[in-house]
Amino acid sequence: MTEQTDFDSDETYLDDFDIAPVRLTVDLGALVDNWKEMARRSGRASTAAVVKADAYGLGLEDCGTALYEAGARDFFVAAVQEGVTLRTYAPYARIYVLSGIWPGQERMFYENDLVPVIISEEQLAFWMSVTAEHGDHPCALHIDTGFNRLGLPAEEAIAFAEDVSRPASFSPVLVMSHLHSGDSPASPLNRSQLESFQRVATAFEGVPTSLSASAGIFLGPEYHFDLTRPGIAAYGGEAVNGMQALKPVAKAEARIIQIRDAPSGSTVSYGATHQLSRNSRLAVVSAGYADGYLRSLSGSGVPLRAGGAPGAFGFIANRRVPVIGRVTMDLTIFDVTDVPENEIRTGDYIELFGPNIALDDAARAGGTIGYELLTALGLRYERRYIYPDD
Ligand SMILES: *Cc1c(COP(=O)(O)O)cnc(C)c1O
Repeated sequence: MTEQTDFDSDETYLDDFDIAPVRLTVDLGALVDNWKEMARRSGRASTAAVVKADAYGLGLEDCGTALYEAGARDFFVAAVQEGVTLRTYAPYARIYVLSGIWPGQERMFYENDLVPVIISEEQLAFWMSVTAEHGDHPCALHIDTGFNRLGLPAEEAIAFAEDVSRPASFSPVLVMSHLHSGDSPASPLNRSQLESFQRVATAFEGVPTSLSASAGIFLGPEYHFDLTRPGIAAYGGEAVNGMQALKPVAKAEARIIQIRDAPSGSTVSYGATHQLSRNSRLAVVSAGYADGYLRSLSGSGVPLRAGGAPGAFGFIANRRVPVIGRVTMDLTIFDVTDVPENEIRTGDYIELFGPNIALDDAARAGGTIGYELLTALGLRYERRYIYPDD
């Protein structure tokens, strides 16, 4: 039952963003700049935008719209439903669905003009039956050149390309493969995948080709083919090991809900895994692993990370401040003893990652990668988008 209250209806209080427990700022201008930089680095190849998993956790509607307005006309999503959603924001784009098509999805593909990326022989046979029944429709072919994840094995793809009995109506609009070690430029496996893909490309002469995601673009022009598929680099993550990311796109912040003094010798958080070695000031923020601030980012007490990274840092008042003890579901504790008392108070925000704490540094502290921190961002985040012309 709703009680009558004495709050005035015109008292709108503060902007939600200014009081949110956790908040995310997405710089769409930086996203567009990064995507354009990857397009520039793709040379003569066209450049698609990869927006699977809700645009790497940053929001399909806003990111998809910004990339479309920036000129992207080829998009990749993982699941058909993502393609249906994207179609609203990218009316004239070609939208590829990386998981391909399954029975029951035919109508969604045809009505929204989505292109299934055929991932297996089983799916290819199904697709043939779909086009025989519903009419020609574009598709793409994924070729496995060594990943052992999705795609027709290269030799079978070549046999299929050369099979004169295959229906004339079946002409893929794209033949693609995916590198497993593009982030390690020194790996000889990149070249063996390249050579395998070159043989497939030759067999499908005249059909546009695509091999490289963000990392592969940095391997050089041989790897570009007709279409590149950058994702993480556009979102401000590291694409290649040891190479700095482009512009940061996402800033995640958590609000300080309590600042407390804790005596030397006392312990912090679950399991008492951190004992304070000095009288300390601790800031408790309202973000935890339920928000995707992973438990593995804890300052201590994560057995699987034993001997590894020391845990994550936040940023406030021009200083890096360490996470102390375990990250909990809704709360995380930072040691702010070294922040002058007049520069920090309850209600302030600690940056979890963004312009001052690189996404991938935060990820490494938790034994993971930027991709995972972005796609783990929880539902409680209040989001603010900065548009390119703001
Ligand atoms: C996710 C994905 C991409 C984009 O990869 P990034 O490393 O984020 O650039 C490209 N192609 C395929 C097949 C993918 O699954």
